[in-house]
Amino acid sequence: MKIIIRPEVRKDSGIVAPERTLEILCGDRRFTAAAANAEKAAMRGMDSEFDIGRVHLRTAGAIAHGHEGTISHVVRKEGITDVTVRGHDDCGFCGLVNGVVNDGMQVSDSVMEIVYPYSKLAFRNREELEMQLAQFNAEYLGYLLPGVMVTSEVIHTDSVYKSEYHGEKYLIVMESVGQFAAYSDILRAAMAPLEGTYMVHGRFSETLPHIEIFVKGLGVGNVVFAAFNNAEVGRMGADIAVLNRERFIEESGARVSLAKVHRS
Ligand SMILES: [Zn+2]
Repeated sequence: MKIIIRPEVRKDSGIVAPERTLEILCGDRRFTAAAANAEKAAMRGMDSEFDIGRVHLRTAGAIAHGHEGTISHVVRKEGITDVTVRGHDDCGFCGLVNGVVNDGMQVSDSVMEIVYPYSKLAFRNREELEMQLAQFNAEYLGYLLPGVMVTSEVIHTDSVYKSEYHGEKYLIVMESVGQFAAYSDILRAAMAPLEGTYMVHGRFSETLPHIEIFVKGLGVGNVVFAAFNNAEVGRMGADIAVLNRERFIEESGARVSLAKVHRS
């Protein structure tokens, strides 16, 4: 993977537009750390293993089911020609789905709704699901997005960012996809730790079950909504009021807050 710096594209120039890749990536904290470190390396003119030139859309497990509205919107708005779904090993979402399907784990109705499409896959344990999940989502997106090239990949997490983390876990919730500031700016605004921060993007109705998974399933104690403009500040204030009425927030004692991100 290389850092890609794209040229400006003028629509009337006759220059063939470079490919625009949307990367659907698991919200796992290790990818947040890898991306933030890759940005720092890029600022020093150094190469990195992590491609920050792509538009990231992060969901629990890099899943697409339930996120159709945001994905379709981003593909149109950003002129996306390629989508890549990047799942990984040691994935908490796969552990959850495996728990529900093979160990009778109980989850709420809204979490069950996003787990359900994957309950039909044949797997005996988390590792077998991890090998199938990204491809299954890529095939689904192929139907959903005619004319867009969709590929998938399963990443060995240790090759991206190897870390033990015992501090407090954060989740950053972002409405915007593809117009956000650098990861380091977002982490700073949210006062969130480099190594312990999960991320999810999308409309609130879509991200809500993901927030529940991160809080209940992965022990996230701080949920920070990251807003990039005043319109988002307003909408997210309303979203936070809804979220604070959710039983899983009350039961977990998780703190919910709003941060305004300024691009540096
Ligand atoms: Zn994961």
